[in-house]
Order: sequence, then C-alpha cells, then structure tokens
Amino acid sequence: MKTRRVIKIAGRLAKPFRVTDGRKFRLKDVDPGETGTLKAEDKPRAKEALQIGVEALAELQDMLYAQDRWAVLVIFQAMDAAGKDGAIKHVMSGVNPQGCEVYSFKSPGPNELDHDYLWRTHLRVPERGRIGIFNRSYYEEVLVVRVKPELLQYQKIPARLVGKHLWDDRYEDIRSFERYLARNGVAICKFFLHVSREEQKRRFLERLERPEKNWKFSANDIRERPYWKDYMHAYEDAIRETAADHAPWYVVPADNKWFTRVIVGAAIIHTLGSLDLHYPNVDKAKRKELAVAKRALLRPT
Ligand code: ATP
Ligand code: MG
Repeated sequence: MKTRRVIKIAGRLAKPFRVTDGRKFRLKDVDPGETGTLKAEDKPRAKEALQIGVEALAELQDMLYAQDRWAVLVIFQAMDAAGKDGAIKHVMSGVNPQGCEVYSFKSPGPNELDHDYLWRTHLRVPERGRIGIFNRSYYEEVLVVRVKPELLQYQKIPARLVGKHLWDDRYEDIRSFERYLARNGVAICKFFLHVSREEQKRRFLERLERPEKNWKFSANDIRERPYWKDYMHAYEDAIRETAADHAPWYVVPADNKWFTRVIVGAAIIHTLGSLDLHYPNVDKAKRKELAVAKRALLRPT
C-alpha cells in the first residue's frame, strides 16, 4: 500500500483518541476495553494493519533522517502493565535503530535531583532527523509526585517555592517547554495507555503465574493499586492542562493489546505524515558531483 494512503487511514484511526483541547476532556469518557469498530475476531486483520503501518513508518523515518530538519518526540505514560514496552517494541519494530532512541525514566537519582526536574529529560530530547521515545517522562512530576507529594522533599526545592500553586506552576512549565520544543522543530506526540484496574490485576496475576513472565513482576507495582483513583485524577488533570495542537495527547484504550498497538502506530504515522517529509532535493551542483563520481567509478583502471 502507498505510504500516502497509509497516512490517510492512520489519521482516521487515531483521530477519535486525540486530545488537543483539554477543556472538554474527561477520562471517564474513554473505555479501556474499547476496540472501536473492530471486534475480537478482527484481531488477525489488526495485526496485518499494524504490519502495514510498521512498513510505512520505516519509510517515513528514513525521510525524516535524510531531511534532517524535524525531530519527533514520542512520550509514553501509563499505569504499570498497561503495555508501554510491548507497544514500543511492536510499533517501532521496522524502524532503523540508527534513527531512533528509547529512554526509560526511572525514579530520579542523586545527580538528577540536584537539577531542575526538566533537566534530565531535556538532555534526551531527540536531535533533528531522529525519533526519540520517552518511556515515562517529566509527566511523572505531576503524576506519581502529585499522588505521593512526600517525594517532593527529595527534590531540594527551596521551601518558599513550594506551595499549593506548585502543580499549576508545573503544568505551566510543561506547556511552555513543549511549546518551546515545537517552535524549534520537535514534533510531539503523547500517549496515555488507559488500562482498567481489573485488566491490570489480570496481567499481574499472569506475571506471577507464568515463569517466563516472573521477571516482569515487582512488588512495588501492587503498592500503587490502592491509589488508583488518585492516579486517574492526576492523569486527567495532566491531560486537561497540557493537551495542545502542537503536543496532542492520545488516550488509547489499553485492555486489548492488539488494539492499543494499532492506534499507537496510527498516531505516530499521523504525526510523521503531517510533517510533509521528503528526501532532500538534489540541486544542479550536487547532480554534477554525482555525475563526476559515476564517471570516475566506471572508468577502467
Ligand atoms: P516496567 O515496570 O515495565 O519495567 P516501568 O516504567 O514501570 O517499566 P519501573 O522501574 O518499574 O519501570 O518504574 C519506574 C518508576 O519510576 C515508576 O514507578 C515511576 O513512577 C518512577 N518515576 C519515574 N520518574 C519519576 C520521577 N520524576 N519522580 C518520581 N518517580 C519517578
Ligand atoms: Mg514498573
């Protein structure tokens, strides 16, 4: 299938899940179990669609790299076991590793805590021509840190700067940071993979029961479950406060992995597809250079 056609279909698939104006957004309007117009028996077709998407993405990324103007920043946020890792693995499977970087942001260490909270992520913003994937991001600062405000004490922020306004300040920081990046040619695409509490439980149990999945389980993971409602509030607020045309959120139902992956792939294709990518033009001087090189190569030695 022609890439241009894939871009069009991808745009249609991703649209219902895109949030660009947070004012009207309510998390309760998104059902984690939703599969759009697709049903469980369409799963094989969804897998085929993903494969077509993976090929289109490879071509778009090649042009992104050759053109060397835009950078693409893809952010993944989710509760544990929502399928971030799997989505990254499957959707990016066809992409040239040289043009793509994945960073996983864990709990900040001492060096990181000695800086402002955007510092460590700013260092990892992709360079022009590349796709950068953040597996978690600075959004943790208004998610886990908001749910567990005691974490703030490790951040060594001067006391008089910490107050009720802190979260609003952070939303403003993030909005400004993303606007700044967008104005510098970084296309931003943010995902919240929305899994239900029941499905998370099922996946945790699977991790406990299947030996090959045991390694994925961490006792810390279940410690967050009692705070589920607080997390959902924090996610809703973060999305409402930071959704923008230049930095849309995609709130993707995540109880069915095959569906999540199709939508994530579609949204990334849509993002790249909107950049009007093309291979650099070969000007007259360059054409001459190529012709000289060709003659030199063909000359008998
Ligand atoms: P997986 O569990 O699939 O390996 P993960 O992204 O959950 O992936 P973990 O090592 O389990 O990785 O978790 C990272 C932890 O770091 C999360 O609990 C997250 O909330 C926490 N974290 C990330 N950034 C921050 C931050 N800025 N402040 C506090 N905690 C953070
Ligand atoms: Mg984890």
